Amino acid sequence: MAIGEFELIDRYFRPLVGSRREVVLGIGDDAALLAVPSGMQLVAALDTLVEGKHFPVGSPAHSIGHRALAVNLSDLAAMGAEPAWYLLALTLPAIEDSFVAELARGMQELAARFDMSLVGGDTTAGPLSLSVQASGFVRPGEALLRSGASPGDLLFVSGSLGEAAAGLQLEMGNVGGLIGDGGSSAALLRQRFLYPTPRVALGKALRGLASACIDVSDGLVADAGKLAASSGCAIRIETQQLSISAALEAVLGTERALQLLLSGGDDYELCFTLPAARLAELPTRLLGANCPVACIGVVENGSGVTVCTRGKPVDIARSGFDHFRSQG
Ligand code: ADP
Ligand code: MG
Repeated sequence: MAIGEFELIDRYFRPLVGSRREVVLGIGDDAALLAVPSGMQLVAALDTLVEGKHFPVGSPAHSIGHRALAVNLSDLAAMGAEPAWYLLALTLPAIEDSFVAELARGMQELAARFDMSLVGGDTTAGPLSLSVQASGFVRPGEALLRSGASPGDLLFVSGSLGEAAAGLQLEMGNVGGLIGDGGSSAALLRQRFLYPTPRVALGKALRGLASACIDVSDGLVADAGKLAASSGCAIRIETQQLSISAALEAVLGTERALQLLLSGGDDYELCFTLPAARLAELPTRLLGANCPVACIGVVENGSGVTVCTRGKPVDIARSGFDHFRSQG
């Protein structure tokens, strides 16, 4: 059933404003009016998802809505920010009631977990894409930056990497080389692509402790490389310290699983560094964060990322697994 643009906004997006006290005026006027709590800094992020590039054509609308907000929450998490509100620029090929309803529900279910308000946006016709601009708060000086790592710091990563990248391949039907039919392991991997969990609690727990932080969206080696470059250091990752998820190994086998773990994208985990002298403080901080973290390497003098197995550098040339990255 087709409805008009204004009815669409009223029906599906206006209810997502919620009741945050910082939102003086949400959806309905020419712009939103927002109050940043005194003494806080505003942290702002924006990410766009385009159909056929960032998610497969025909993906479930509920997952598209979830991911559009999740990727932005992941950026706020990587800064250690407390999420507050977001805006949505939605480009739709056609106004299809049930599609928009599911998309809004996917966004709202995630937003509700962080008491986030949708405060405005724009709706236009065109190829399906979503741009979300998300904002949060952090106390001055407490934001986690990419640039704070020093030689000697330890490198950590949260969650299990590679699963989402494998899930994307399964979603796209690129199942060549699978071990068996995948079964429940394959279902778990698809879920990890469709419903990434932004590590907001972890980011907040690391404020004042982590020396640097980045979210892993383009693959561990690529994103660790950005952190290293921003910090003016080198990073060494030890493969024996990486734990390969049972589901990933069951579906892909050890070698391909390890390649995806190092270079697959769409994980939305946090990669952070910690001064070795403060290691003892980490377990207490993690109590409320509700996700596992593992020490996977060290920060060194120099530049770039080296991946080692028992101290020996391994070749992580991209060419061997470019087919995993066909969606860019
Ligand atoms: P204008 O023409 O002044 O930009 P619009 O008609 O585009 O106004 O939008 C009217 C109101 O609806 C604005 O408050 C805008 O922020 C909000 N809005 C439009 N599209 C969306 C959307 N996809 N999600 C949330 N709010 C939206
Ligand atoms: Mg507008």
